[in-house]
Amino acid sequence: MSRISINRNRARLKGLFGIRARLVVLALILVSPLMFERIRSLEDARTKQAAQVSSELNRLARRAADAQRDVISSVEAVLKSTAYIHAAASQINRGCAILRASLRVDLPTIRMLAVAGADGIIRCSTMASFVDANISDRPYFKKALETHDFVVSDYLVGRQTGKGTILAAYPVSAIDGGEEAVVIAGINLDWMSGIMGDLAGRAGVTAALVDGDGIILATPPDQTSMVGQGLDRMGLDSTLTRTSKGWELRIAGRSADHMISFAQIPGTNTRLVVSIDEAKVSAGINREIRTAYMQLAMVCLLVLLGALVAAERLIVGPIGILTATATKFGQGDWSARAAKAGLPAEFVPLARAFNAMAAALRERERDLVATNNRLTVMASIDVLSGLANRRGFQSRLDFEWMKGQQNCSKVALLMIDVDHFKLFNDTYGHPEGDACLSRIGETLAGIANLTSGFAARYGGEEFCLLVPETDPAEALQVGEMVRAAVEDLMMPHRTSEFEHVTVSVGMACANPSEALEPRDLIEAADAALYAAKHRGRNAVVEHGLIRGTDATLAMTG
Ligand code: GH3
Ligand code: MG
Ligand code: MG
Repeated sequence: MSRISINRNRARLKGLFGIRARLVVLALILVSPLMFERIRSLEDARTKQAAQVSSELNRLARRAADAQRDVISSVEAVLKSTAYIHAAASQINRGCAILRASLRVDLPTIRMLAVAGADGIIRCSTMASFVDANISDRPYFKKALETHDFVVSDYLVGRQTGKGTILAAYPVSAIDGGEEAVVIAGINLDWMSGIMGDLAGRAGVTAALVDGDGIILATPPDQTSMVGQGLDRMGLDSTLTRTSKGWELRIAGRSADHMISFAQIPGTNTRLVVSIDEAKVSAGINREIRTAYMQLAMVCLLVLLGALVAAERLIVGPIGILTATATKFGQGDWSARAAKAGLPAEFVPLARAFNAMAAALRERERDLVATNNRLTVMASIDVLSGLANRRGFQSRLDFEWMKGQQNCSKVALLMIDVDHFKLFNDTYGHPEGDACLSRIGETLAGIANLTSGFAARYGGEEFCLLVPETDPAEALQVGEMVRAAVEDLMMPHRTSEFEHVTVSVGMACANPSEALEPRDLIEAADAALYAAKHRGRNAVVEHGLIRGTDATLAMTG
């Protein structure tokens, strides 16, 4: 990967983790644990709910078994006492009459009592419709005769009533070996309808009482259509397997979502089977979990938008305002001010500091400009003579040259050099030389004032006088004025042939144009000065720059 693309990726990554993204992440970090906790608790509730249903059903199944056990033991007691009574009464051939008279028929556990002979014909019964019925083929009857013991039938459908019931049989022979009768009781199954009622109306819960062959004998009131059918109606598979104890019914669910709970009714092959469809049982809580996920998504979205808006309004926006103000400062607009109104309170001190800084910098810039101007002026002045220095002269010459060009007026330049100044220094010393230069400077300033000219110290003991808007003749007169004024100062110079300080003057005058440059005027005036020296000093010489001839005018004092 190239360095450029790495840098670009890095910049993109930085953008990604900008202040907005950080705020969004922070907001999500704060909100998500709450939402995830809610979802987790719902998931927990789902698991608990399934476990609760399962344990409740187990409890019901156990309750059914316990209820049946109580019923059966009370029925056994009743049958045994009935057998005693019957055995005693039989001896006086009044078995049935005494039985009917002595038996209580409002027992809560027994629906009817009957006595069958060894031939299986019911001889007497608390319910008249049973008398003379033949039960010799009923397995419980046969077993009671065989075992001489208390027997409980499987759940079966009564021939007379057509209703499901369980019968208990006790052979009288168990008490009285001579008597071959069997006392039979129809067990009251009201407890079962109570339990079935408890199981009714539950979403995802199917319950049934099944016999040893896996046929549904009873159901809660809302599922009666399954009665008489196989367990497959409940979504269950049943198999009959032969074991050492006889035939055994094995029940299994077809789907992993089905929880099966069953309890065997004691003394019978009947089982209470309850199947729970977890998906249906959990449907409500699943809906709640889905809603919670939707809420989580919504909350995340809102948090996201909220964080973005907050970041924009509270941080990014104010930073943008301050950046724009700083940019204006950078462009030199010190009058720009960051508007404090609308800024969040935390940014107001920063904006105030920004504005104060701008005001201070504006003031400092003013000072700097003034100082700079002063320095510029100072840089253009010669301290010794009090005149402009060469730099000041140069810029004034450029200015006058341009003006002359625009106004088509002439510009004259006088180059002035002190004669034998080296000798002056040698004779009177350097400080005296300085004083001499200072006096000449004063003189030139006076003449410049008179002639609307501009005097400067060109360098060393050389001066110049710029006289704009003048012709060569006038300029020559000014040159002469300069020469004479210096001579009139009468500064002694004993090593000069003139015995006083004198100057030589070279004059040039030009029409500023594209063809000429200010430098040409200086060179011409210098050449004229050279000529003046050559002519013997203390003289004024003109350079014929604009006349096209090298005419000179020598004037000697
Ligand atoms: P000429 O007549 O040909 O001009 O001869 P001159 O001696 O004047 O010229 P030269 O160039 O030989 O010497 C100029 C002298 O001016 C040499 C230098 O010491 C002196 N000088 C230049 N600047 C200053 C200054 O600021 N103060 C003083 N005291 N002397 C200066
Ligand atoms: Mg000189
Ligand atoms: Mg000189």
